[in-house]
Amino acid sequence: MKIICVGKNYARHAKEMNSEVPDLPVIFMKPKTALLPNGLTFYYPEFSKNIHYEGEIVVRISKSAKSLPKERVKDFINGVSVGIDFTARDIQDQCKANRWPWELAKSFDYSAAIGSFVEMPFDSILSSEIKVKKNGQIVQHGFARDMIFDVSEVISFVSHRITLHKGDLIYTGTPEGVGPIAKGDIFELFLNDNCLLVTDIK
Ligand code: MG
Repeated sequence: MKIICVGKNYARHAKEMNSEVPDLPVIFMKPKTALLPNGLTFYYPEFSKNIHYEGEIVVRISKSAKSLPKERVKDFINGVSVGIDFTARDIQDQCKANRWPWELAKSFDYSAAIGSFVEMPFDSILSSEIKVKKNGQIVQHGFARDMIFDVSEVISFVSHRITLHKGDLIYTGTPEGVGPIAKGDIFELFLNDNCLLVTDIK
């Protein structure tokens, strides 16, 4: 399986990163070794001094897909959840300054926390809501309808370049409110008020 992530998919997040809203989906990938299942601890890695959380709605691919039209995407999803795209912001800044790829900032071990999956009608995914609580306080609150490229557009776009397989995960981008993590923090992520992911930082 592979993990495909969308960058800058909410206008207010692009703004908080001092980025332009992109014309095409910004895509990067994480390897399978990045997965951190629900309930497990994220250990702060020694190579970074500034790891950020990015809470995201995540969809799971149900079967192989190549060059899907947008209208067919709904038949290729069999679950939705929430995840954290842990990002070494200091390393990402270095990558951006040097025009290097982002993998060292985005794709390290356990950088993709993933919650439990639920099934819902496709239209409900398009109107779903994500909340991120850090130590009990809401720090991110976003709506799928505010995505610049919605789930249909993202998956259709990706499938024209990269064949998708059953079990692949799509991290659909983070709303505004990203910030640093610290040892001792506890994160709880909610999809439509349903807590699907808990992770603590050590
Ligand atoms: Mg992200």
